[in-house]
Amino acid sequence: MSRTGENKLVEKWVPTGYECDCCHKKVSSGDLPKGWKSFSAGHGEWGNDSHESYNNYDVCSFYCYVSLFTEEYERLKDEDSGVIDHCDMTYAGSLVTYIKTAWNE
Ligand SMILES: [Zn+2]
Repeated sequence: MSRTGENKLVEKWVPTGYECDCCHKKVSSGDLPKGWKSFSAGHGEWGNDSHESYNNYDVCSFYCYVSLFTEEYERLKDEDSGVIDHCDMTYAGSLVTYIKTAWNE
């Protein structure tokens, strides 16, 4: 038996750059550019939502980082096992409070 086939055009997803998950600025780059940061946030509670609770972010600046970090803190603050960029909720809460205080001065 011989294999048979036909010519087909195949579409393939190819990474072309990064988009900031906060301000949606885009860059064409193979690697995360300097000044950008990747982080994740989620919680480890039992059930299906633990895996689904994890969000991965790429952000273009410290300001976008703080903005999403604060949003994630508000989402996860009642979860004992919540983690944002390797910070537990106690540490994350102190950081958010400190930044809010410092930026309002
Ligand atoms: Zn941004």
